[in-house]
Amino acid sequence: MTRTVYVNGQYLPEGEATVSIFDRGFLMADAVYEVTSVLQGKLIDFDGHAVRLERSLKELDMQAPCSKDELLEIHRKLVELNGIDEGMIYLQVTRGSDGDRDFVFPSEDTKPTLVLFTQNKPGLADAPAAKTGIKIISIEDIRWGRRDIKTVQLLYPSMGKMMAKKAGADDAWMVEDGHVTEGTSNNAYFVKDGKIVTRPLSNDILHGITRRAVLRMAEEAQMEIEERLFTIEEAQGADEAFVTSASAFVMPVVEIDGKAVGEGVPGPIAARLREIYLDESLKAAI
Ligand code: PLP
Repeated sequence: MTRTVYVNGQYLPEGEATVSIFDRGFLMADAVYEVTSVLQGKLIDFDGHAVRLERSLKELDMQAPCSKDELLEIHRKLVELNGIDEGMIYLQVTRGSDGDRDFVFPSEDTKPTLVLFTQNKPGLADAPAAKTGIKIISIEDIRWGRRDIKTVQLLYPSMGKMMAKKAGADDAWMVEDGHVTEGTSNNAYFVKDGKIVTRPLSNDILHGITRRAVLRMAEEAQMEIEERLFTIEEAQGADEAFVTSASAFVMPVVEIDGKAVGEGVPGPIAARLREIYLDESLKAAI
C-alpha cells in the first residue's frame, strides 16, 4: 500500500510529496521533529510531544506551522488514511525556504515547512528485544550544546548506532566529561539496590517525553528515583539498566561495553516499568 503523507496542507501519495531543494531543513538541518507512537490506532502522549515541539520552535525562533488542534487533526487523519494500528508518526518542521541558500535566516514571513508521515510497525508494543534486552557500547558525546532542542541534526547519533552495530551491539550511550549523557535516541538509566538513577534535565540531554512519564509512574509506584550524573562503570556494576523513548517505551539494557549488567537478563524494575508505561499510556491515548 502506498503511504499517504502530509506536506504543507496536502495529503499526498508518498511519491508525489515534495519539498524545495532550498529548504533550510535540507541545506542547514534548520528543523525540528517529533515522533509520536500509535498503539491500538491511538496517539501516545500527543500532548507531551506537542508541548515539546512548541518549546523547540520557540528556542530556535521558528514559526509554528499551525495550531496544536490542527496538528492533532493531521496526526489522526494520517493514522486513519494509512490504517495504522501500531507504529509511529514522524513530524518535521523546518524554517522553510525563500528560494536561495544563505546562513542568515529568511524573512519572518517565510512559511515553515511541515511534513508528517506514518511508519507502520505491527508488534511495536510486543517487541522481542524487550524480552531479551539490548547490548550497548559507550562512545564519546561530540554533539552540540543544545541537545534539549529536538533538531534533525542526527548524523552523530546515526554514526553512533553504526559504531554499535559494527561492535556487535544494538545501540550506544554517549559519554561527556566521564558521565553518561543519553543514548543515541533514548534516555539512559540504571537501577542499583532498588533505586532508579538517571541524569537530570539540562541542555545536555533531550527532555524525553517517555522519561517524564516513566519517572512519574515510577514515583506513583513508590519506586526510589535519583537524578544525578553517573558513569559507565556505575551502570556496568548496577543490578539493571534500561532506556526509554517514544518508540522503544522502556527497553532493558543487559550489556554495556561487553560487560553483563546484573545477571545479563532484563531486570524486574525495567519489566515492571514497561508494563505500567504501556498500560497507563494506552489508557490515556487519544
Ligand atoms: N534522547 C535522544 C537523543 C533522543 O533522540 C530521544 C528520542 O528520539 C530521546 C532521548 C527520548 O525521547 P522521547 O522519550 O521523547 O522519545
